Amino acid sequence: MAEKTEKRGRKPLPADKKKPPQETLKINDFILPFVKKLKGNLKNKLVTENTLSQLFDVLDGKYDQQSSMFKSPETVKIVNELQEKIRVLEAEKQIIKDKLIKNKDIRLNLVQERDNWHLNAVQTKNELENLKSSYRLLKNNYSELLNPEHVCMAIKANGERCSKKAKLDVNQNGIMIRVCLLHAKRFEDHVVK
Ligand SMILES: [Zn+2]
Repeated sequence: MAEKTEKRGRKPLPADKKKPPQETLKINDFILPFVKKLKGNLKNKLVTENTLSQLFDVLDGKYDQQSSMFKSPETVKIVNELQEKIRVLEAEKQIIKDKLIKNKDIRLNLVQERDNWHLNAVQTKNELENLKSSYRLLKNNYSELLNPEHVCMAIKANGERCSKKAKLDVNQNGIMIRVCLLHAKRFEDHVVK
């Protein structure tokens, strides 16, 4: 079976005749109409290389556009239009710059606010810890009040409260508790005399 030759579309160029990839230029949408117009005028020979260089001189601020350099009203018009567009672009650039500065300020404020809240949270946590230890102290005092018979306040290995009669006062981490003689051994160094 013979191979079908493709007849549609454009034939590819032979390898030695292929053109190198062309350089592309991205043009700001805002000045695109102007560039198109300039390109058209260049094509129609309405603008010479000389006019172009003069035009750039004016854009660079080297010449006064009202000077005798510009006899063609078309060129003066193009320069005026381009200068106006550049002025608008500069104004837009300034607006964007101002917005960026404003955003930076807002970000800084947010960071400060976050830090303040963090500090606040740390302080609250400390206060909570203080309250917790006050609560533990009160709880110990309370159980002492509940046990006027002075039952040993130590906790046995099985987690239950020792029920022997308390004989001695011991200092357990700054809190005085009453314990039986057996449990007092555990606190030998802390016996309050
Ligand atoms: Zn005990």
